[in-house]
Formats: sequence, C-alpha cells, structure tokens
Amino acid sequence: MIKTRFAPSPTGLLHVGGARTALFSWLYSQKMGGEFVLRIEDTDLERSSKVSVQAILDGMKWLKLDHDEGPIYQTQRFDRYKEIIQQLLDKGDAYYCACSKEKLESLRDQQMAAKQKPRYDGCCRDLGLLSDGTQDLVIRFKNPHQGSVTFKDHVKGTITVSNSELDDLIIARTDSTPTYNLTVVVDDMDMNITHVVRGDDHVNNTPRQINILKALGADCPEYAHLPMILGDDGKRLSKRHGAVGVMQYFDDGYLPEAVLNYLVRLGWSHGDQEIFSIAEMIELFALEDINKSAAAFNTDKLNWINQQYMMSLPLSNIVGLVKQRLKVIKVDVANNTNIDTIVDLYRQRVSTINELTESILYCFKEFDEYDAKAAKKGLRADSLEPLKSLSEGFESLTDWRAESIHQIIQAVTERLDVGMGKVGQPLRVAVTGGSFSPPIDQTVEVIGRTQTLKRILRAIDYVSKL
Ligand code: GLU
Repeated sequence: MIKTRFAPSPTGLLHVGGARTALFSWLYSQKMGGEFVLRIEDTDLERSSKVSVQAILDGMKWLKLDHDEGPIYQTQRFDRYKEIIQQLLDKGDAYYCACSKEKLESLRDQQMAAKQKPRYDGCCRDLGLLSDGTQDLVIRFKNPHQGSVTFKDHVKGTITVSNSELDDLIIARTDSTPTYNLTVVVDDMDMNITHVVRGDDHVNNTPRQINILKALGADCPEYAHLPMILGDDGKRLSKRHGAVGVMQYFDDGYLPEAVLNYLVRLGWSHGDQEIFSIAEMIELFALEDINKSAAAFNTDKLNWINQQYMMSLPLSNIVGLVKQRLKVIKVDVANNTNIDTIVDLYRQRVSTINELTESILYCFKEFDEYDAKAAKKGLRADSLEPLKSLSEGFESLTDWRAESIHQIIQAVTERLDVGMGKVGQPLRVAVTGGSFSPPIDQTVEVIGRTQTLKRILRAIDYVSKL
C-alpha cells in the first residue's frame, strides 16, 4: 500500500511552501488509495514550540488535509532512535567520534583554504572509541567509501552521488540526542513510508538517508523533491514577500478551497486548466507532472482564484463565513433576514470574505460619514431636489421591491427631466455612504424602507448645509 507523510519541523508557522508540500503528499496518497501520515519533527527542542505545532495542526485542519495516522511526535520516539543507533554501533556501521569543535573548525579552514569541499576527514572512524558516558562524544554514521548512490526522483529524474562526496555524518550529538537524518530514516522505515514527497532543500540529504536505510536493511522509499517557491522578485519565498502562515489567509477572508486550488498550481499543472475541485485534483494529480522549475508566488492569481470560489461555492457556505466575519468585527445581524440576498448581490464583486463583509456593512449598521470623494460628486446642491422627490416617492410606496423602487427612481428622473445619474448617484451615496454598489434598486430593497428613508433625510440635511 502507498503511504506518504508530511513531516514538518514545528519551528514556525505552516507557510505556503509547507502547505504545498503537505498538499502534494496528501494528494498522492488519496490518488493511490493509500495512507497519509502527519509526523511532527520536534527533536530540535530549542527551536520547536507548542505554538508552531498548533499552527501546523490548525492549518492542516482548515485545509482539510486529514491524516490517517498521527500526529506522531518524534520527541516521543527517543528510545527507538537510541535502539537503532546502538544497532548501528553494534554492527560497526557507526562509531564514536571525539574530535573537538576546535579541531573540526581548523580542519574546515584548511580545506577551505585549499579550495576543497569541507568534510569530516574520518579521523575517529577506525579508532574503535568506546563511551563511558563521561566524555563529549558524538556518534557518526560510517558512510561507505566505495561506490555511489543512485535514486530515481519522480520530479528531478535520476540522481547519482558518489560516496566519495559524502562524509560520515553525525547521527547522535554529545548529549546523545539523535540528529535529523537519523530520525527521518528510522521513522520512514518504521512507518513503512513508500513515497517521500518534500522540498528540494532535502535533495542533498537523500543519498545519506539511503545509505543509512541500506545499513539498516530497510527498503528505500521513492522520492519526489518539489522545486522551491519564489517570490515575484525571483528570490526564495520568505516573509519579506508577505509569505505568512496559512491561517493568515483564513483571517484575511480567503476560502480553503481556493487556497488549495492556488497551492496545487504552484508547481503542478494539467494543461492550462486553472480551477480544480478537490476531486479533480485527486483524479488528475501525478508526481510526474510536477514542474521541474521553481514556482512563483502571485497574490493577484490567488485573489482571482478566490473570487472564482466566492462565486461558485454554495451561497450558504459564503453566508456562513460572512456571518462568522461579522461576528469577529462585532456587527450584529441577528435580526436581518436579508443577509442571503445581500451576500448574493455582492459576491461577484469582491475577492475575499473580508472584502465582501466590508462592502455590506452599511446594510447592518449606520455608517459614520460619507466617503469624501463620493459625497463630493454625489451629494451636491443640485442633489437636493432629486433626494426630496425620492423621499416622497418612497414614503408612499407600499410594495418595497426592486421593481417598484426602480419605477419611483424612473418617475423622479422624468419629472425633474434629468438623467439617471443625477438621481441614482445621490441616492447611492445617501444610502450606502459610498459610490459603488450593486444596482441601486436592489441595493435600496435590501437596505429596507426604514433605513432608506432615514438615510435620505440625513443626506437632505447634509446637502442643505452645503
Ligand atoms: N522536518 C523537515 C522539514 O521541516 C522535513 C523532513 C522530510 O520531509 O524529510 O524541513
């Protein structure tokens, strides 16, 4: 059975890059009818934090990248790592090393001066040092001297590295805690991981990990190393580019379906199709279709995709999220029965839930002041007559529907012999506070009779004082 994993180190938030890795790994497991493991690589006690673990769990949950196994915490597996390290020592595949930091530093300086690649020189490899627990000894893996390591990467093709390029890496520190390459290998082996999908910053670790797996007599998984994500300036994506934890996208009013759709297109394509439902992603995903070159982050595209989902998701989903957002900003809509209509009127015109919420606030609460530009254009001395006429017309309107509202507006333009703009625009500014809204008759309908009349009077007052 196919088994993939996502193995983040909880040293920060779950960023775009990590979420994309998680998605690709998850997609492959779904596509193959396999399983997906969530493993928290928290052995670096200084840099790991509970907050980061929670951010990862929250992000995965929001994106609905559900795991079949886990979360497994590496910090709970120290005994197992110790056992394997002992096994490697017993078999002669690992050894104690007493080289001091100073000695290693001077070795490094010499190698650099001689323009050689810095590497451990194997000084303690054949000394047969033993530990009595009192000295500062690390444990190193005895990397083979001869031959080479070859693996077929699903994205990068066949990669071969000569063993002469690899030095004996440290697998246990002086305090006997295991290092990254050791824990990954033990976990991938114990958890029967068949496919390792991860960022290509780990390509260089792969031959080392394969050698350890071989020493343990384990099967090697297959690998797919994902090209990195760049910011729009061509540099590696980082916080400078506004790359934030995925939950920030939730806070900013993005939809998880859209974020997933955006992430899947970061480095994977299927013809020129842009919009993929989850079911389609699973059906069409193939490791071989992952692009070899780096992907570039593009906020405009994320907004565009989000807008597509704002329009296509069931209205009830969007309304639910808008209500949630209104609650966050403490606007009470409990008694408003029009919210479905209002949200539906607006969802074509905005990119995010937050934008939508901002645009419809005037439906639920009085605005403090008119948008200055809108008032300058829309509420002028010559708006007084149209506003008064509208007020009279609306007063006597018994049937508060867009069609009848439209007829009143129409009648006012005819009576005053002015264009639609001279009536519609003052009305729009009067009732919304700004100059953009869906068709004015529909807008007035959802605002309701009482509020509309009240706001027209407020505008008449404003214009009278000009
Ligand atoms: N914990 C590693 C990281 O966050 C990933 C390890 C792996 O996928 O093999 O970079």
